[in-house]
Parts: sequence; C-alpha cells; structure tokens
Amino acid sequence: MNRTLLIIKPDATKRNLAGAILKQIIDEGFTIVGMKMLWLNKEQGGEFYKIHKGKDFYDWLVNFISSGPIVVCCLKSPNAPKKLREVVGATDPKKAAQGTVRNLYGTSVGENVVHAAAPDEDPQREISFFFTEKELFEY
Ligand code: UDP
Ligand code: MG
Repeated sequence: MNRTLLIIKPDATKRNLAGAILKQIIDEGFTIVGMKMLWLNKEQGGEFYKIHKGKDFYDWLVNFISSGPIVVCCLKSPNAPKKLREVVGATDPKKAAQGTVRNLYGTSVGENVVHAAAPDEDPQREISFFFTEKELFEY
C-alpha cells in the first residue's frame, strides 16, 4: 500500500496550522496526490468514524470532526499508512514521540490535530470516502 489518508482536523485549521503540518509531512518524503478542504456535517462525520460507534468518545468525536473545516489529503510514499502513523505520533499528544505532529501541535487526546488512516483499518476505504480515482493525480 503506497497511499494513505491524512485529515487536518478542525482544531488545526482553526489555528492556521495546515501549512506547517503539511510541510512537515512533505519533508518526511510524502507526495500529495489529492487534497481538498471540506466541512463535514454530523452524518458524514459519523459515517467516516463508524468504526468507533459505541465507544464513549464517539459522540464527542463526531461533533468535533464536524465543528469546522478540515483538509483531507491522499498521500503517497512507500509503505504510506505505516510511515504516516509514525510521523503523526500516538493518539494522545502527551504520549506522542518528540517531534511528531501530535507532539508538536496536539493539545489533548481528542484535539490531536490530525487523523492518519490506520494500516490495519483499510486505508483505501478512507481514501475512497473522500476521493474518486479521477481526483487523484500521479505524475
Ligand atoms: N479520541 C478521543 N478520546 C479517546 C480516544 C480517541 O477523543 O480516548 C479521538 C481522537 O481525536 C482520536 C480519534 O478519536 O484521534 C480516533 O481514535 P483512535 O483510537 O482511532 O486514534 P487515532 O487512530 O486517531 O490515533
Ligand atoms: Mg484510528
């Protein structure tokens, strides 16, 4: 799998961090093959995060992801899903390794600035959630 999905979450777009986060990720060797700015409604947010339905943070998460604009990116690199998770860091910014995106910019376990598709949770489903194949560009 050489593609994965990144979402710059509403806490990050509100703090004008999209550029800094993308620069860091591109500097790690990723290429942007698709990108768009969106504002999800709660139905779309709930569908995207349906794997978490029933968990105590689900309602909060759906509200959060639909609370403002997001930037969704399809990124390419060798071993993209695993590599992006490493660059992004652990879910809880306090536990994320030094220099990772969440360590640098995250403010809480919920408001952790980015989503990165999990390698074992079907990254292609997440890419297809936001992009048709015609909206992805490789050259
Ligand atoms: N989340 C939360 N509380 C938790 C765990 C997760 O608010 O205890 C939020 C957080 O924004 C996280 C998202 O739900 O990024 C999805 O959770 P997951 O465990 O899949 O973490 P991720 O894959 O994003 O690292
Ligand atoms: Mg996850």
